[in-house]
Amino acid sequence: MIDRRKFIKSISALGLSLPALNSSLLGKPNASIKNNPVILCSRGEKWGKKVLRPGWDILRKNGSLLDAIELSANVTELDPEDTSVGYGGLPNMNGVVQLDASIMNGSDHNCGSVACIEGIKTPSSVARLVMERTDHIHLVGKGAQDFALMHGFKIENLLTENTRKIWVKWRENLSDKDDYLPPLNSNDSGKRTTGTINVLGLNNDGDIAGITTTSGLAWKIPGRIGDSPIIGAGLYVDNEVGAVGATGRGEEMIRSCGSFLGVELMRNGKSPQEACEEVCKRIVDINGGPSKVNFNDKIVALGKNGEVGCASIREKKGQNPEIATWSKKGFKVTKGTYLIEI
Ligand code: ASP
Repeated sequence: MIDRRKFIKSISALGLSLPALNSSLLGKPNASIKNNPVILCSRGEKWGKKVLRPGWDILRKNGSLLDAIELSANVTELDPEDTSVGYGGLPNMNGVVQLDASIMNGSDHNCGSVACIEGIKTPSSVARLVMERTDHIHLVGKGAQDFALMHGFKIENLLTENTRKIWVKWRENLSDKDDYLPPLNSNDSGKRTTGTINVLGLNNDGDIAGITTTSGLAWKIPGRIGDSPIIGAGLYVDNEVGAVGATGRGEEMIRSCGSFLGVELMRNGKSPQEACEEVCKRIVDINGGPSKVNFNDKIVALGKNGEVGCASIREKKGQNPEIATWSKKGFKVTKGTYLIEI
C-alpha cells in the first residue's frame, strides 16, 4: 500500500519538475519580492488594526504565514461585536448560526474548508486542520463539527443576546400571514446584513496564503453554502501570482468563479487593482448590465510583489470600499474603486 503522505509528497515533487511548462502555458507571473511581508484584510480603519496586529506580529518576526493569517482571522471570529463572522454572527432563518470558512496555501496549492458548521467559534482554524490533517478539502455540517470535536474544539452557543434579538425582530416582522406578533413599536428595515472577512498574507520568502471566513447571508435557508468555503469562489491563492478574496453576494462569486478569475487575470498581466475591477465587471455582465444588479460584491487582491487592490460593484457616492494592510511601512488603509453609484 502506498503511504498517503508519501504519495502526496511525490505528487508535489513531480510538480517541481514542471515549472517551465506551467509558466509557458499559464502566462508570465509577477516577479516576487523577498523580504517584503504584507498582511491584508478586507476591512477599513475600524477593524483593520485590531485584525491585522496579531498576524503582522508573527509575519514581521518571520514566523509562520499560516499562523499569521489564522490568528488575524480569529480576531473577528471571536469578537461578538462583528455580526457577520464567527461567534455573534447573524443566524439562518431558524435562528441557528451556521459558519463557512476556507484557507488556501499558495506554495503547495493545499486548501481546506468547512461549511455550515455549527457551534464552533473559529471555523477558519477548523478549515486549516482539514487542510493539514486530512486528505480532503471540504467538510460540511455535522461532519465538520465532529471533525472539530475530534481535534478538541468545544461546542458553544454562537448566538449572542444581540443577534438573538435582531433575529427575533426579523422573524416577527417577516409576514402578516403567520402568528408572530411584533411589539407595537417594532419594525424591521428588511435589509439583509452581509459581511465576511478575507485575510491575505505574503511572507519574507514570497509565499502567499489566504483565509475567508463568514457567518454568511443573514436569514439564509438552513444548509445554504456561500462562496466563502468554496475554493475559487470566495478565495483563491497561487504562489506564482497572488491571492484574491471576496465578500458580498456569494452566489455571484460562485457562478463567476470570481476569486480564481481574479488570480488568472493577474497571471495574465493585470495589476491587483485592475483584476478586482475586471471581476466586478464580469459579474455585472453576467447579470445583464448595471441596471440589473441590485447586490454587491467586494473583491480584494494581493499580488506576489506586495501590490494590493480592492473594488466593489456598487456603493453610495464617495463610499469607496476599503482594505487595510500592515507591512514594513506600517499600518495603512487604502480606498478601492466601485463600478456603479447608488
Ligand atoms: N459572501 C458571503 C456569503 O455569501 C456573505 C457576505 O460576504 O456578505 O455567504
